[in-house]
This record gives sequence, C-alpha cells and structure tokens, in this order.
Amino acid sequence: MTCRHFLELLDRMDNIDIQEEMTAHAAFCPGCAAELSAVMAGLRLYRLPDVCCSANLVPKIMAMLPLVPAPKRLVSMRNWVLAGLLIMGSVVLVPLMSDFRVLKETFGPAFTIPVSMAFGLIITIYLGIFVISHIDEFGRRLKAYEAVKSGKIA
Ligand SMILES: [Zn+2]
Repeated sequence: MTCRHFLELLDRMDNIDIQEEMTAHAAFCPGCAAELSAVMAGLRLYRLPDVCCSANLVPKIMAMLPLVPAPKRLVSMRNWVLAGLLIMGSVVLVPLMSDFRVLKETFGPAFTIPVSMAFGLIITIYLGIFVISHIDEFGRRLKAYEAVKSGKIA
C-alpha cells in the first residue's frame, strides 16, 4: 500500500474500525501513522456523547480539552520587536530625507504637523495593539514579580 492510497482510504473512513492493510502500513510509516492518529482522535471526539443537550457540560468539555490544540500566538515577539524598530526607524529617518526637507521648506507647519500627528497615531496604534495582545503575559509577569517581592520581604 502506498502513502497516497492510505491517505485516500483515511479520507473516506467514517468509523473507528480501520482496515488491516492500513494498520500494517501505519506500523512502518510515521507520516501516515501521525495522520491516522489525528483522524482517530477526531472521530473519537465526534463520537463523544451529545454535549449540547446535556445538563452537566463541564466534565464532557474537560474530557475534550486534551484533544483541542493549544492556541498559538499569531505574531511572535521577534516580529513585534522588528515592527517596533521599523516604526521607530522610520520616525527618525523620514525627517532626514531630502524630500521631507523640500516639502517642509515649501509647506512649513502645514506639512510637518500632519506628518507628526500621523507618526504619533501609528506609534499609539502599535503600542495599543501590543499591550492588548500581551496583557495576559504582563499579568503573569506582575504576579511572578509580586510573589518574588513578597517572598524577599517575609
Ligand atoms: Zn505512508
């Protein structure tokens, strides 16, 4: 059995009973074994007793939690720092450009004030999004800091 045939059979599978030849292939093919494991976990989750109509949801939801993948942060800290450096670099470098100086001499404050406001707005939006998206992390660090601080005093 080829991997392609295995995956086609896996796509058509709608119950937990798997064919013997699929089991044999998965025994020596790690990629297909991982796919089989994911599909079986999904099928087991699908076959759990009806959650929506049950009076006591908590135990059933707790049983499902290990099957739910952990949420991932969409933007890494490295990319946040790079974006911040790019914004700060442009705030510093744009006024040094010759085009900026020509426009500044031509239009005076009618040009520099809106540009300064736009930079301020961009920095404010960046910092606002950064703080909102990292508020959980800041809370955890504050709690850890307070725990360390109270441990040192006591
Ligand atoms: Zn395979």
